[in-house]
Amino acid sequence: MIDGAGHDAVADVAVDGGRVMGVGNGFGVAKRTIDARGKIVAPGFVDLHTHSDFTLPIRPAAEAKLLQGVTTDITGNCGFSPFPLNGDEAARRHGIFFESTLTDRWCTLRDFTEDLQDARPAINVAPLVGLGAIRLAVMGEARVAPSARQLEEMRAVLARELGAGAFGASSGLIYPPGSYAAKEEIAALAAVVAEYGALYATHIRNESSELEAAVTEALDVAAATGCLLQISHHKVFGRDNWGKVNATLSLIENANHDGANVCIDVYPYTAGSTSLAALLPPQELDGGEQALKSRLANPAERARIGRHVEESSFASLDTVLIANSPSRPQLTGRMLSAAAAEQGVSDSEFLLQLVELDGRDALMVVFGMAESDVRQVLTHPLSTVASDGWTMATDSSTYAHPRNFAYTARLLSHYVRDEGLIDLPEAVAKLSTWPARRLGLRSRGELTRGAVADVVVFDLDNMSEESSFEDPCQHPKGFEHVLVSGQLAVDDGETTGVRLGSVLAREG
Ligand SMILES: [Zn+2]
Repeated sequence: MIDGAGHDAVADVAVDGGRVMGVGNGFGVAKRTIDARGKIVAPGFVDLHTHSDFTLPIRPAAEAKLLQGVTTDITGNCGFSPFPLNGDEAARRHGIFFESTLTDRWCTLRDFTEDLQDARPAINVAPLVGLGAIRLAVMGEARVAPSARQLEEMRAVLARELGAGAFGASSGLIYPPGSYAAKEEIAALAAVVAEYGALYATHIRNESSELEAAVTEALDVAAATGCLLQISHHKVFGRDNWGKVNATLSLIENANHDGANVCIDVYPYTAGSTSLAALLPPQELDGGEQALKSRLANPAERARIGRHVEESSFASLDTVLIANSPSRPQLTGRMLSAAAAEQGVSDSEFLLQLVELDGRDALMVVFGMAESDVRQVLTHPLSTVASDGWTMATDSSTYAHPRNFAYTARLLSHYVRDEGLIDLPEAVAKLSTWPARRLGLRSRGELTRGAVADVVVFDLDNMSEESSFEDPCQHPKGFEHVLVSGQLAVDDGETTGVRLGSVLAREG
């Protein structure tokens, strides 16, 4: 038993009425006893960085989360959330690449919460609100600075959602229109987050050649506002940039030393996943998809955009795998370069064709991080481990990043058991206790008397990831029992159909 509060011991964990009744022994006879000898009993995992708000409304059973021990997903990351909405078509398509079949969007967090709760999610959800979504609702897709009135309106919308229980706000500074926000605009909004004592999570403006400047921008916002800052999925793309996390981790340590409150999270893989359109420099996406399409119709403009992509895309195009192209499903799982060569066109031209056809629906998996960087961030005392994924089904027609199925199994079986990179109690803390504390989730992330009985029982000796880049849509082995609010959502390695998750609200 690892309780997340600093104790690991051989002990019984007694659960009653949805809460942990006690840890120790002498609890008498229970209605159901799980023999966990040789296994690990730990607090249910809290996934600090997900996009499940775009998938849980239509996939509330969340098998891919439960079967890796996750009992709570934090949503609303990278500037995306399916609310607030102003009724505009562009707002309806914001974040569409996460799940193209979910076309619902909600006017407010309250509306979203009601509908998601009605769908009876199997896991808990702690929502952030996306600053990209707020900008889109208030200002549309224009690449302009807000007027004083628009800025006040964005601050008011943000305050409304924080007042309604959002755990914080997020920015995604590579995704238009959130990427159009200057540092001053972000600081004006982060100041509202700070007033509520909530979290500001950021997908920073650059994760390749300009990594240090992008981290500095985030740290400036924290210093100016006093907000709790979370630098999301910290990493660096591109061979020429490998090793730069050394410098950024020092910047983050120094900021904490100077009084800021900054943490990071990381997923345990050397590949990422996002919209293919994110490979275009942000200014090329100005004005939205239609504007881009008309620019691409002009041959000279098209050639210029192609060159711009080759020069300044955050990742090298020969590291890109096509994860989903609705118009050409036969390309799923193929490397972009190989598919381009078959068509006799350059990589950048083929990318433009895909973006032209599928807009933001086209999804990629992109390799190009260094293993040594991933390890350095994983082992850093300020890091928690999160998926950056979303709930998926094993029969999904789109390619999946393995993080959607097995990020916890990868950390535990590969980096803890096989590689000895992190010790087990620390890994459990990075998966559950620290993210719960970061979010202010009282009574979760620990197995102590009175805590909510979100519990995972896993067999580390016999754990395997199963999900790989070659064959991603597989559940891991080794997660034997998972309790959500004291009820078995996973029993003997199988989901039970129990769906007792709640949409949580930040306690003031
Ligand atoms: Zn992101």
